[in-house]
Amino acid sequence: QAHIDQIEKYEPQVKAYLTVTAEEALKQAQAADDARANGSDAPLLGIPLAIKDVISTKGVETTAGSKILKGYVPLFDATCVARLKEAGMVMLGKLNMDEFAMGSSTENSGYFTTHNPWDLDRVPGGSSGGSGAAVSARTAMGTLGTDTGGSIRLPGSFCGVASVKPSYGRCSRYGLIAYGSSLDQPGPFGRTVEDNARILQVIAGQDPMDATSMPLEVPDYVAGLTGDVKGLKIGVPKEFFVSGMQPEVEQAVQAALKVYEDMGAEIIEVSLPHTEHALSVYYIIAMSEASANLARYDGIRFGARIDGDDMIETYKLTRGQGFGDEVKRRIMLGTYALSAGYYDAWYGKAQQVRTLIKQDYEKAFEQVDVLVAATSPTTAFKLGENMDDPLQMYLSDVLTISANLAGICGMNVPCGFDDNGLPIGMQVFGPAFGEDVMFRVGHAYES
Ligand code: GLN
Repeated sequence: QAHIDQIEKYEPQVKAYLTVTAEEALKQAQAADDARANGSDAPLLGIPLAIKDVISTKGVETTAGSKILKGYVPLFDATCVARLKEAGMVMLGKLNMDEFAMGSSTENSGYFTTHNPWDLDRVPGGSSGGSGAAVSARTAMGTLGTDTGGSIRLPGSFCGVASVKPSYGRCSRYGLIAYGSSLDQPGPFGRTVEDNARILQVIAGQDPMDATSMPLEVPDYVAGLTGDVKGLKIGVPKEFFVSGMQPEVEQAVQAALKVYEDMGAEIIEVSLPHTEHALSVYYIIAMSEASANLARYDGIRFGARIDGDDMIETYKLTRGQGFGDEVKRRIMLGTYALSAGYYDAWYGKAQQVRTLIKQDYEKAFEQVDVLVAATSPTTAFKLGENMDDPLQMYLSDVLTISANLAGICGMNVPCGFDDNGLPIGMQVFGPAFGEDVMFRVGHAYES
């Protein structure tokens, strides 16, 4: 009830939710109380969480922020949602996002823009902007987002909350509306690193419904939060201090590194030499995969349909009116990169460079336990500021996307404020399936 009251109070300004399921939430809360009275010790019993709208929820409209999916009500839960329900979650509703998770500010939502709770004239980051803003505005205790190229970490940074992109294969993608299938991962946002650890604990682990989820044991993340980093080696990738970085962001990350050093960690400069190619490689691969994944929205099977005189006309009208501009831009570019005659020059080449980026990280993790860098070169920008310039918008992702290309895990940890009082975030990267050490390092800073 407290969260529903908070939603009523702050949603008119923040607009993090596409759907609020208040009545159902109160029923679930009552059921959680009853279960507790009957001795249940489910790990998230009665905890009010909300879910990014790209994640399928049985019986609750799921639009991926797109007009083309208006009215689509899934018949099943995504595995991560099913696991949260099993663990006792109370679901508050579905969260706003850039259409099909394509964007860095949530301004590409087909419905409305979400506002940053720290400054309502600024963006919350994207594409999981609703997931970051809801935790920040305390209209949910925790949330799920998805991260294809920074979409969990960037809104965590802009909204001043901790958030985690798990290693590729750590969580099931079953029931996620696909954007870039070789990059997508669901993951948590929470008030603290520990909250994130508790949510990831529930959603992680192999799932027979997703063949890319790995058959690995999930360590006890909370037990690993020792509060110390003594003897750990923290790598600082020198290529991540990019030109154009806001000075306060760099200072805040340097100050955090000093905290780690004072706690007994060893700070080591490392190099990830192919970083400069990450942005181009990512946008070729992500758009190519998106162009294939989005072929299924034909107006026949899911969501909205705009009827034409024949099938092809219906297909054209539905896709023409259902998809927003950014989505269309990506379908066209992705289709081009995959076309006969261009495939080797664009998609094939990008895949080769992707391997080099992955090897950079593997080499770095031979020397260090984790890597630390800024999450974004700047703090939250103004609404509308980057909307006329897609390339400028893509630059917000320069520090986050290589982790997705490499398949490693990374989290945002709030580490200060700029001169406008806007939150600054740092990233802690762990090696693939090294979420435990990533959590330990993120948590030690926080505590
Ligand atoms: N901004 C990136 C993009 O638009 C991030 C997307 C994501 O992680 N979903 O592709």
